[in-house]
Amino acid sequence: MSTPTKSIQVTLKNPPTEFINPNFGESNSTFAIKEQEIPDLKDGEILIKTRLISNDPTQRGWIRRKGSKRYYVDPIEIGNPMESLAIGEVLESKSTTYKKGDLINGKFYWADFAIVNESQIFNKIDQSLGLPLEYYLSVFGMTSLTALFGLTEAGGLKKYLGDEKPKDLTVLVSAASGATGSVVVQIAKHLLGATKVLGISGSDEKCKWVESLGADKCFNYKDSNYQNQISEYLGDSLVNVYFDNVGGEISNFALTKMAKFGTVISCGSISTYNSSTPPSITNWGEITVNSLSVNGFIVFDYFAKFQEGVQILSNAVKEGKIKVTNAYHVDSLEGNDEIAKFEQIPKIWTQLFNDNKPNGKLITKVA
Ligand code: NAP
Repeated sequence: MSTPTKSIQVTLKNPPTEFINPNFGESNSTFAIKEQEIPDLKDGEILIKTRLISNDPTQRGWIRRKGSKRYYVDPIEIGNPMESLAIGEVLESKSTTYKKGDLINGKFYWADFAIVNESQIFNKIDQSLGLPLEYYLSVFGMTSLTALFGLTEAGGLKKYLGDEKPKDLTVLVSAASGATGSVVVQIAKHLLGATKVLGISGSDEKCKWVESLGADKCFNYKDSNYQNQISEYLGDSLVNVYFDNVGGEISNFALTKMAKFGTVISCGSISTYNSSTPPSITNWGEITVNSLSVNGFIVFDYFAKFQEGVQILSNAVKEGKIKVTNAYHVDSLEGNDEIAKFEQIPKIWTQLFNDNKPNGKLITKVA
């Protein structure tokens, strides 16, 4: 293809305090759309064509209002393109590491074309393996690494990756049908040998899928009786490790089910991301009286171990311990009008926060 001279970008218009407005052209629209000239490349820069976009709840934190709360990255400036983990194809390069035709994984933009710096790139995809590109944002992507390092590093369960297996280990995971949660279920059950794995998810259908991945039981939190159901299922037993993806009421309840010296892996709190008044943890005392450890983490804390992590995940896939079928869902941008196509991106992303979220990793196909 000839070198593009313009790019379409979805930019930040109104940093939201509560729910995102994914529609365009309204006074409180979260995003705007613009066409932009593509400048000449400078040394170390690369022109990419965006192929796949990763949809991640953490992007909600990237568009928070300035000064609203501490976070692990600075907020995106108003008028700048929305950032996203993504896979791009190199069209032109002034980098000594990446060349035309390479497929690269990194932190890029909601845009058709973009100029990126080498520092934004995580790795080059080995195209000789012939694997679907979607695998690199799902089974071998950031959310699977989050599941792995959350359990093994933050959760202290690394010792069970080898021959030693636990005699009695109950793991509970929330958002269990999601990209991270579904891999937590499989790693806990099939790699670490947890004796019991329990999931919490948002529908009976999702729960069936979670159980098909290896969970002993999954509970639908939209059922008003789910807490009693979990208590009845556990009987006298308790949870040793809670992998917390949601925060809020579910986590408050989970704290009351923790065993003495149990561990809470604080991965995320999606139930609070769109709220200006996040619910408080009313059962904080459970941490003290049960000598619990609460270990927060950001997957990039383990960046130096990513290659090792991908190796563990790919071995697990080869051995059938992590399933690739239904591990991801792809939404493609539809239509011939390029602007209208890019207006679909925020709507796809907001599925993460509503009932329409498909199982596994949600990916947007741009080209
Ligand atoms: P995901 O699970 O694929 O999608 C989000 C899920 O959240 C949906 O499947 C939905 O499940 C659930 N959800 C949405 N609103 C909810 C609510 N109000 N109450 C309960 N559940 C709700 O997304 P993901 O990328 O794997 O992220 C999952 C969590 O991990 C997020 O909190 C995210 O921030 C966190 N995370 C953290 C790191 C890190 O480095 N610490 C890295 C990646 C992800 P249902 O359909 O079952 O409601």
